[in-house]
Amino acid sequence: MSSATPAPGPVGDTLRCFVSRLGSVISFVSVSDGVHVLRHPVLDVNSTLVLGEEHALLVDTLSCSSQAIALADAVRAVTHLPVIVVNTHVHFDHTFGNAALSCRLGLTDFFAHPTVIDELAYRAADVRADAYRLCLRVAPDIADEVRDTETLVPNRPVETQVDIPLGGRVARVRHLGPAHTPGDLVVVADDVVLAGDLVEEGAPPDTAGADLDGWVNALDTLLPDMSGPVVPGHGAVVDANFVRRQRDELFAMARGKSAVSLRGVRTFSVVGGSQL
Ligand SMILES: [Zn+2]
Repeated sequence: MSSATPAPGPVGDTLRCFVSRLGSVISFVSVSDGVHVLRHPVLDVNSTLVLGEEHALLVDTLSCSSQAIALADAVRAVTHLPVIVVNTHVHFDHTFGNAALSCRLGLTDFFAHPTVIDELAYRAADVRADAYRLCLRVAPDIADEVRDTETLVPNRPVETQVDIPLGGRVARVRHLGPAHTPGDLVVVADDVVLAGDLVEEGAPPDTAGADLDGWVNALDTLLPDMSGPVVPGHGAVVDANFVRRQRDELFAMARGKSAVSLRGVRTFSVVGGSQL
């Protein structure tokens, strides 16, 4: 598991600190103008807030209700704008906070790929059971809560691309084909790319069940327009050079030349059949 504390930003950038149920201090940190990342210590997963003049966009909702309640409070410490949610993919650490966030903040708009909507609508019990079994090995402190978490099915499908006006800026939500999962979404807001688990820092990308060729193609599509910060699904904010190296590692894996990344191995990423 990676460090519990994100890299400190400039003075004044820490917008909200609170103590998680595991006793670790976490905070939203500004990574660009109106873009703030909350890097959660459990599974080192990111939730990102993009601020417009009229709406805020929250990308990914953490792993369970208690995390999401803390996330909701952190959001409200930053902004009182109406919040729209995007789930980058179906994995529990990016979607299982939906219901608690909806309840806490009165949210009504949850964007996701149609495959995510179908999974949570028709296979929620299986998704929850898979998440529970995985948590027993990689995050046992939250396993029981994940097993009992109420899921909320997103209601705004994104087939290929949707532009979400936030007031003064637009968040472009794109599906670039099957990659880490069948239904990955990325969000582009000005020069910032929120990549979901198409990019992972601090550990090799989770390729269990992935479409490696599709993943490489997706990164090839994104890379020419990457000029600013890239927020990965897990770990620290990176840039295009990091993404290019990860693309090359995935390409090598797809060609059978390399099965293991040269970077460090996060505890949960070496678990067979990982679904993070
Ligand atoms: Zn994932």
